Order: sequence, then C-alpha cells, then structure tokens
Amino acid sequence: MQRISHWIDGRVVDGRSGRTGPVWDPATGAQQAEVALADASEVDAAVASAKAAFPGWRATNLSRRAEVMFHLRELIDANRKEIATLITAEHGKVLTDALGEVARGLENVEFACGVPHLLKGGFSEQASTGVDVYSIRQPLGVVAGITPFNFPAMVPMWMFANALACGNTFVLKPSEKDPSAAMLLAELVRAAGLPDGCFNVVHGDKVAVDRLLAHPDVAAVSFVGSTPIARSIYETGTRNGKRVQALGGAKNHMLVLPDADLDMAADAAVSAAYGSAGERCMAVSVVLAVDSIADPLVAKIAERLPAITVGPASDTASEMGPLITAEHRDKVAGYVADAPGEGATVVVDGRDSGVEGDGFFLKPSLLDHVTPGMRSYDEEIFGPVLSVVRVGSYAEGLQLINDNPFGNGTALFTRDGGVARQFQFDVNVGMVGINVPVPVPVSYYSFGGWKASLFGDSHMYGPEGVNFYTRGKVVTARWPDPATSQVDLGFPQNR
Ligand code: NAD
Repeated sequence: MQRISHWIDGRVVDGRSGRTGPVWDPATGAQQAEVALADASEVDAAVASAKAAFPGWRATNLSRRAEVMFHLRELIDANRKEIATLITAEHGKVLTDALGEVARGLENVEFACGVPHLLKGGFSEQASTGVDVYSIRQPLGVVAGITPFNFPAMVPMWMFANALACGNTFVLKPSEKDPSAAMLLAELVRAAGLPDGCFNVVHGDKVAVDRLLAHPDVAAVSFVGSTPIARSIYETGTRNGKRVQALGGAKNHMLVLPDADLDMAADAAVSAAYGSAGERCMAVSVVLAVDSIADPLVAKIAERLPAITVGPASDTASEMGPLITAEHRDKVAGYVADAPGEGATVVVDGRDSGVEGDGFFLKPSLLDHVTPGMRSYDEEIFGPVLSVVRVGSYAEGLQLINDNPFGNGTALFTRDGGVARQFQFDVNVGMVGINVPVPVPVSYYSFGGWKASLFGDSHMYGPEGVNFYTRGKVVTARWPDPATSQVDLGFPQNR
C-alpha cells in the first residue's frame, strides 16, 4: 500500500504517530494509499522548521522573492498535467476540471510574482516640519493553512503564494482525503528555490489542526472548509491570539428573472450545479425561478441532464466523476430520498448512477417545488442535486437569498441592467454573478463570502490576502540638525 508522509524542512519525513487514514480511489471504491496522521510532536517539528527559516526568508530581498515566485510559476505551469492527474486520482474530478483547478490556483502564484509592487508602502514628506511619515508592511511569521478536499491544489495556492511572497513561512495541513497534490506542490516550491523550512506539509486530522491552533509560534491561520469547523477554527484560533480567516460552506442561489434567456440560464444552472459533481463551494445549489418561467426553465434543465456523461476520470468521455467517499455519496442520495416526503418533486432521480463497480458515483438529480424548511433547502448538500424554488417575484427571490444563513456566491440571470444593478446593491452575499453562474473572483480581487460563509475580516487571496499575511507599521522620522534640539513635554503636534 502506498504511504503518504509529511514534508518537513525540505524533505519527506515518515509519519511516526502510528495513526494513518485511508485514501480512496473514488472511481473504484478501493483504498489506494494510506496517509500519515500527524500527532502534536510532528506538527511541532514542522512549525519549528518554519520558525527557524523565517528570519532568513523575511530578510530575503523582494527581487529574489519575486524570482522564486516566477520560477514556481514556470514549474507549476510545466507540471499542470501531473498535478491534475494526482487530483483526479484521489478526488475523482475529471481531468479537464482538475486542469481548470490548477489554472485558477496558478493565477495566485502569478499575482504573487508582483510582490515588490504589492508591498509598496505610503510616504508623506514633511508631515510635520522636518518630519517624514511612511508606512511599511511586514510578514507575520509562521502561518498555517488548513484546506478542504474539494480543491486540493487550488486552495493551498490561494494561501501559500501570497503568504510566502510576503515573507512568511508556511505550514500546510491539507485534506487527509486527497493529500498527494500538496506533496507535489512542496517539491515544486523547493525546486523553485524556496529555502528549506519555508514551506512544510503536515498531514492529519483534528489532532494536527488542534495543535496548530494552540501552537504559540503560529501567528495566523487560513482555513477553508465546512461552516461548523470554520466557526470553531475561528473561535479557537482568535482565543489563542492568532489572526484567523476561516471560509465556510455555502448555499448558492441563482435567481432567474422572466426576461432572462432561458436556454442560457439552463446551460448555466446545469454547468454550475453539476460541475465537479456539485462539490464546489461556489456550486449553484438552488435555482430561484420566477413563477411565469418556472415550468419551461425546469423542463430545459431536466432535458439537459441525460446528456451528462458520468464516469471515471480515466474515461475521457466522462464529464462528471464520483463523489469523495461512500459516506458522502450516501448522504447526498439521502436528500433525494427524503424530498417527496417533505413535499418536493423529484424531477430527475440520479441515485442509480449506472456506472459499474463500487465507485462513489451519482447521476445528476433535480428537485422542484422545494421550499425553505425542507432539508434539501436548509442544508448544504455538496453533491449533484439541484433544487428549484419557485418565487412570485424578484423581491421574493432577493429576500430568500438575504434570509439564507450562508452568503458565499449568488447569480442573477436577466437582460435588465437596472435590475442587475439594484441586485448587486441589495444582495447580502460576498461574490455576485450577473449572468455568470460561478463568479469566482480573479486573483487580483479577493475571494470570500459573507455571513456563515466567512469568519474573520479578511477575504482570501488578492489584495486582502496580502493584507492578511502582513501587518502595518508606520514610521515617523526626523533627521534633525542637532542645533535645533530641545526638551518639549507637549504632545507632538504637526502645526
Ligand atoms: P471540512 O470542514 O470537513 O474539512 C476541512 C479541513 O478541516 C480539512 O483539512 C480537515 O482535515 C479539517 N477538519 C475536519 N474536521 C475537523 C475538526 N473536527 N477539527 C479540526 N479540523 C477538522 O471540509 P471538507 O469536507 O474537506 O470540504 C468541503 C466543505 O468546504 C464544504 O462545506 C464547502 O462548502 C467548503 N468549502 C468552502 C470554500 C470557500 O471558499 N468558502 C471553498 C471550498 C470548500
């Protein structure tokens, strides 16, 4: 059985806790590897390595740090297929989807190549007579990233590209369900010229996470995962004096108005609901259809579903792969099973995947006449199940979105620019698509939801990522003529 170990101080380090977790091949249902699960002492070793590397890396000049990022950019670009293949093998998403993940992650490394520009401070000459004031941003120290299974390469890149470029050292705790992409990224980071110790990977579960949250030498924690864990990471981390950004789950609504192009809306809903088998935090989970177009829209979505090819990534014809584990597949199927009893209509039942073998497959499912209070509406499903909620008006749709505890992404489909503008003004959600169903911001903006989709003040990557991984310092400087020196007990004034 293949064994996946930690990456500490620039090399692979065997786990010695005696605990391991299974890594499944979701397409066959067979265990393909075991991953080491770190204990506290192994986390401590990674943090100690990152702490020792910090003074040297922080003092490394900006040109050199940018050069390392440029090298890393080239190496990830050259290894897109290898990274995507590892993602596919452990996560199950099809290769085109995995390549898309790598491409979107790489954008963050490209953004970080501009670190000399990003860390430029402000300067005010003659703020007071003979006095200049300037601001600088400095790294925090050792920062940790804890990442989810659904983007095993992209989400780590959201974090470590900016963290490292800003002069921090990094400890990554990837999802134990698909840990291999992180190991290849570690090798590439080393090959790009990052000094040993600046980037470490510890595999593990709650034990490792709890130690990172308690470790006095970890200055900040970036987390992406489900809302209950995000909330607890934020509460524990901040209680321990750390800076924390914790991105949680989602329930993304797509509101379709009567004037929308219904074919375009149906294409978008299908792409955004079933891509990556619905295991995306920006997946559309609910279509809000205004009554007058609900019947034709549901029909158009339903007629597209039989054409989706579900199967293993090894078959290039497959468009939708399996779910991550058997338990998760069964949980998702449970929402479809429960729907009629709650009063919803199962328009398309995808529980029988039709794929041979023991892989964790489902086909797309479509539920109609879903209402708040039903499990399929109230909970994050994170699978290939799309719910249609019928609403009487734009205002009713907007109200549902704003009443929802989550606020990650949303989309509006309309031809009316005025309504779209009002929607962007009124909606309480962090990422908004106007005729764009998966509005993941480009890397020079920042990613993050509102409400129960984000705990903390900083969104991830882009300018907010740079702010998160640095702290400001303001210097007030005078180079006086000694002849003007005098005692003055008054509070410094500028006029
Ligand atoms: P998860 O919360 O189960 O796990 C995320 C990370 O937390 C993993 O590294 C895991 O090992 C660790 N973890 C799990 N249980 C823990 C515990 N009890 N204590 C401490 N650490 C623990 O999430 P997941 O199933 O890997 O990913 C899917 C979830 O992530 C979905 O809810 C999805 O919406 C969310 N997600 C959100 C975003 C976003 O940007 N908002 C992006 C991707 C995924």
